[in-house]
Amino acid sequence: MARSNKILFKRRNGGKPLLIAGPCSAESEVQMLETAKGLQSSSVTLFRAGIWKPRTRPGNFEGVGLKGLHWMNEVQNKYGLRVVTEVANTAHVEACLELGIDALWIGARTSANPFSVQEIANAIRGTGIPVLIKNPVNPDIGLWIGAIERILSAGSTDIAVVHRGFSSHTKGKFRNAPLWEIPIEMKRVMPEVPILCDPSHISGNRKYLAEVSQKAMDLSFDGLMIESHIHPEEALSDSEQQLTPKATKSLIKNLVLRKTVTDNVIVNSALKELRNYIDELDDELMQIVSQRMSIVAQIAAYKKENNLSILQEKRWAQILFSRQKRAEELGLSAELFMKIFEQVHQESILIQTGILNEQNTHKTIMSSEKVL
Ligand code: PEP
Ligand code: MN
Repeated sequence: MARSNKILFKRRNGGKPLLIAGPCSAESEVQMLETAKGLQSSSVTLFRAGIWKPRTRPGNFEGVGLKGLHWMNEVQNKYGLRVVTEVANTAHVEACLELGIDALWIGARTSANPFSVQEIANAIRGTGIPVLIKNPVNPDIGLWIGAIERILSAGSTDIAVVHRGFSSHTKGKFRNAPLWEIPIEMKRVMPEVPILCDPSHISGNRKYLAEVSQKAMDLSFDGLMIESHIHPEEALSDSEQQLTPKATKSLIKNLVLRKTVTDNVIVNSALKELRNYIDELDDELMQIVSQRMSIVAQIAAYKKENNLSILQEKRWAQILFSRQKRAEELGLSAELFMKIFEQVHQESILIQTGILNEQNTHKTIMSSEKVL
């Protein structure tokens, strides 16, 4: 089937999200066709499946290879779904181009490697094939932006990025920490690039998929990429995080889609008034922080005069304890205030260090002048 010229990846702008679903890995012709059949006549328009699987450790199932692409062709022809798979090198790209695969994705391990991304960029140059770029496994937005720039400079315009979470040495609730601030920052620095969420690889467990998908919708992501398998418990890879096609459809049906703007004049004027109020409060907050820092400077002068160390551990422990208690009394998150005061304290140490060193330099110059 010839590849369509229609742009696949667009900003949602309050409209319907783009939905991609399909198995983590292509395993057999039957598994592919049954899964696609289960997903057809839903709002899923793009069918995903990994043909070459990058596994964390060798010896696990590493994908079916080329024959999987033929099964993808069957999915295109039988169910009218467009298909997308992961590529990591020139040979993968060439095979996909030859077999009319509709779009490619660059996986998280590959987007962390500029050599590989450049190799893929060179292989797709001039073809116009749509490309999804997953975030690198490590939380480095510069590396992610670099991967996008390499693909853009190969002349690709039909691109989107996929947020799939970040690996971490500590085990949290999710398989990959979402660190939502990173995709939010990505939207700010590259507002024209559509951003999808992969709730499956973030969650690592199907029980969190609905929650993570809804969060992505609430943050105005442009679409979702969900792993779906006809028999998830028998899947050869990522079996805990895959959903049956039926469960995938029900997740999609239950998503609450919110608008980004409204033309209701009363609502808009109420929002404007409240935002003005927030602006004033933020300004007060900043003035108070500024006053707090000037007191810090005065404290630094006393410490210098009396040869006292900057870090006073007991005082710092007391601050953390009392601010946490106060946060609880105010019905606010103690964790939030821990984070805020840690930042404020770091800044305070920085200011004090600066002042103490400045006075040192000053005194050194004065005494060396005397010597002269
Ligand atoms: C996948 O989508 O199956 C995959 C391997 O994802 P990631 O590169 O995000 O780990
Ligand atoms: Mn997977």
